[in-house]
Amino acid sequence: MSTDTRPPKIKRGASVELTLEKFADRGKSLARVDGYVVFVPRGVPGDRVRVGIRKRKRSYAEGVIEEVLTPSPLRTDPRCTYFGTCGGCKWQHVQYDAQLEAKRQSVAEAFAHAGGFEASTSGAVGINVLPTIGMETADGAAPFFYRNKMEFSFSARRWLTDWEIATGEQFDTSFALGLHAPGRFDAVLDLDACYLQSEWSSRLVNATRAFAKEHGWKPWAIRDHEGFLRHLVVRTPGNTDERMVVLTTNGHDAERMEAFAGMLRADFPETTTFVNAVNTGKAQVAFGEVYHTIFGPGVVHDTIGGYRFEIAPNAFFQTNTRQAERLYAVAADFADLTPDDLVYDLYSGAGTISIYLAEKVKHVVGVELIEAAVENAKANAKANEVKNVTFAQGDMRDLFAPAFIEAHGRPDVLIVDPPRAGLHPKVVEQLGKLRPERFVYVSCNPQSQARDLALLKDIYRVEQVQPVDLFPHTHHVEAVAKLQLR
Ligand code: SAH
Repeated sequence: MSTDTRPPKIKRGASVELTLEKFADRGKSLARVDGYVVFVPRGVPGDRVRVGIRKRKRSYAEGVIEEVLTPSPLRTDPRCTYFGTCGGCKWQHVQYDAQLEAKRQSVAEAFAHAGGFEASTSGAVGINVLPTIGMETADGAAPFFYRNKMEFSFSARRWLTDWEIATGEQFDTSFALGLHAPGRFDAVLDLDACYLQSEWSSRLVNATRAFAKEHGWKPWAIRDHEGFLRHLVVRTPGNTDERMVVLTTNGHDAERMEAFAGMLRADFPETTTFVNAVNTGKAQVAFGEVYHTIFGPGVVHDTIGGYRFEIAPNAFFQTNTRQAERLYAVAADFADLTPDDLVYDLYSGAGTISIYLAEKVKHVVGVELIEAAVENAKANAKANEVKNVTFAQGDMRDLFAPAFIEAHGRPDVLIVDPPRAGLHPKVVEQLGKLRPERFVYVSCNPQSQARDLALLKDIYRVEQVQPVDLFPHTHHVEAVAKLQLR
C-alpha cells in the first residue's frame, strides 16, 4: 500500500484527470490539485477532463483538454463550426445563464484580488456585486448577432481549423478573409459564417472574398508589408437600417473602388455608404490615414435613449447598441441625478453618455482625448438640440486639475468611463482631492477599476457594482460601480 501523500507530480507532457472548478483569467477554466493551479482553455467548470500538460511553472501549469470524461451540466453545443479555433467567442460552449454568473463572479474576484476588497455575490458581506444584466432573447436562447460593428482582416496566410485539415483537402492558404486565430497576429481564419453581427455581414464577407479573388486583388502579407486588401469593416447600427462598408487598403485605387462599389450596389443594395480607408503603414489597423467616401454620406447613425448619433468610419461607438442603452441607464440610476446637478462625464468619447444624461441635470461637461471624437460629440449635441453640454478636449492626466474645475465649476456628480488601462494615478489623486458627492465608475476592465477604487478606499465606499453583458460568448464584461462619499 502506498503511503505517499505528496501532491501528484504534474509534469510537462503528462496526462492528468482533473475536475474544472471555475473560470479564471481570459475565459480559461481552472483546476486545483492540492492547491496547485492548472489553467485549461475551452473547459467548463464542472467538467471532468483528461488534460495534457503543456506548460509547467512553479506556481501553476497550463494544459489542453485531451478528452472530456464527464461534461459539465453548464455545457451547451457551440453554434459555430469555428468555435475552438477562432479567437472571437471563447464561451460559446457555455450556457448563457452560466456565462452571466461567471461574469458576476469574475467582477467579485477582481474587487477581491486586484482591489483587496471584501466582495460577494450574496450581498451578505462587503461589496454587493449584483447579477449580471444579460441580453434578453425572445425564447431565452443564447443571444447572437448583437454586434453593430465587425472588423474582418485579410491575410496572405490562411489559418486552417483542425477539421479543415482533417478533410485531407488541399486548401489555398494564400488568401483569407475573416478573424484572427488567437495569438496569431499574422494568420486569419477564412470564415464563411460568423454569428456575431448578421447573416448579411457573413454574406458580404463571402462576396468580398470571391470578388477579390476573381479580380486578382492581393491580401496583405503582414511579414512582407505588401498586398492591397487589409480590412473589411462592417457597421450595422442597432436601431437604424443604415449600413456602412469600409474597405481598408494599402493605397487608394479609384478604379478598383468603383468596381467594388458596383458589386455592393448590385448585390448589397442595403449598403447606405461605402468608404475606402487608406492605410499604407506597417501597423495592422483598420484605421486609415485618409478616408475616401465612394458613395453615400460617409457616416451612419444609431440611437441610444432616443438620441441620434452620427458615427464616422473611425469613431468609437459601443458595439452592442441595446446593451449600451442598459449600461447608460445603470450609470444614470447610480448617479441619483437631480435637475440642479453639474455632471462631469470623463472619457466621454463621442459624447453619448453626456447627451443621454443631459435632460436630467443642469449641465454636463465631457472630457475626451481624441479631437475627432470631441468634434463628433459637439455635432451630436447640436443635432439632438441638447444645449446644456460642454465638451473639452485633452488628456485627463493634464486637464483634470484645479484650473479646469475653476473654469467649469465643482461637479456634484462624476462619471468616468476610461479605457482598459483605467485611471492614471494623477487622475485618481485629483479625484481624491475633488471629492464630489456622487461618483460612478463605468469600466470595461474590472481589474483596473478595482485597483483604482482601492486607492480611494478611505474617501469613497463602494456601495454596489452592476455587471452588464455587452459581449455574450466572450469573457468580457462591463461593470458599473456606485461610490458613496464617506
Ligand atoms: N463613454 C464613451 C467612451 C468610452 S471609451 C462611450 O460610452 O461611448 C473611453 C474613451 O476614453 C475613448 O473615447 C478614448 O479616446 C478616451 N481616452 C483615452 N485616454 C484618455 C485620456 N488620457 N484622456 C481623456 N480621454 C481619454
